[in-house]
Amino acid sequence: MDAAEQDAWRALATERVAGAGLRLGAARVEVIEFLAREGQCLLGASDIVARLREQGGRAGQASVYRILEELTALGLVRRLVDESGIARFEIAAPGSHHHHFIDDATGEVAPFSDPELERAVEAAAARAGFELSSHEIVLRGRRTGTRSAARSSR
Ligand SMILES: [Zn+2]
Repeated sequence: MDAAEQDAWRALATERVAGAGLRLGAARVEVIEFLAREGQCLLGASDIVARLREQGGRAGQASVYRILEELTALGLVRRLVDESGIARFEIAAPGSHHHHFIDDATGEVAPFSDPELERAVEAAAARAGFELSSHEIVLRGRRTGTRSAARSSR
């Protein structure tokens, strides 16, 4: 995600938050600014709180958690809850579309994108007579370090 996409998400966030009748107070602005800079891939709420604090942020933990929920409800942030119930957040922006691997052993989350997978998802939706608004794919397993060669397109 480049600077222009970050700006676009920040502008959208500001507009939707104001449109929802929420005040753009210091804590909300802090969280929105932070996510525009660093929220491209899944971060735990407690990590977000810690990073904000390191950066001199003043929003308290309860405020940050509440704001993350608000932004999720407004469709600005995606929330992914893992099997142990830990919620992680990332911004929902067109330029940040990707999916996730979760390592069963370590819980590590790694982003990936795969054009072939996107085409397969769209084709599956079309076959089912379904128009997609969004989709999320989580692959769980174990990292082997071995990659297969990309299949050539037909
Ligand atoms: Zn991600």
